[in-house]
Amino acid sequence: MLENVSVLAFDADDTLWNNETLFREAERKWAAVMSDYGTLEELSDKLYETEAANMKELGFGAKPYLISVLETSVALAGDALTGSMVGEIIAAGREIMRNPATPLPGVRETLEAIRALRRYRMVLLTKGDLLDQEHKLERSGLAGCFDRVMITSDKSCKEYLQLCELEGIGPGSLAMVGNSFKSDIAPVLELGGWGIHIPSSVMWVHEKTEEFEHPQLIRIKVFSDLLSYVG
Ligand SMILES: [Mg+2]
Repeated sequence: MLENVSVLAFDADDTLWNNETLFREAERKWAAVMSDYGTLEELSDKLYETEAANMKELGFGAKPYLISVLETSVALAGDALTGSMVGEIIAAGREIMRNPATPLPGVRETLEAIRALRRYRMVLLTKGDLLDQEHKLERSGLAGCFDRVMITSDKSCKEYLQLCELEGIGPGSLAMVGNSFKSDIAPVLELGGWGIHIPSSVMWVHEKTEEFEHPQLIRIKVFSDLLSYVG
């Protein structure tokens, strides 16, 4: 049971709906266009180097991805990069922005069941591009499940403290549910809150981190397992 918890915060991408799989698909299509310049794995490594270097200026999401993928293509192909290659690369990247954001199995039912308890304030906390995240929330049909939506550039202790301040609670009253140990779990545990980790099958290399045990860490396999802890 979540002792003293009054605010449940939820990550969105790869917790409520799939997202990383769309990036993988765009990357696969990009690699097909760029097959003269390396294997999928080699190209992905190059792309990640560019993304990591751009992270501070561009942040996370589909648009920064698109800039990085074009930058990497130019670096690899130079003037051999043609208009039709660029067109195909952009088209593949644009697909990420059209994520239908269909809720993962059990997500809608579980959120509605928790809401019906009237025991928690429910917050959606996601990082990335404002417009893209707003569109996904709208398409998911889940907006009505949340009392507050917070879209930030990052998810570190700073943003979690901001959330606590907005909600008028101490970090000990916050539980965060998400797939990324690095962004959703570790900072909240560090502040004294609760972390509920639901690992996703596909994880971006930037989100990979060392995991650890903690008395306020709960690991669950599927979203509906949450119901065993919030009753
Ligand atoms: Mg996530």
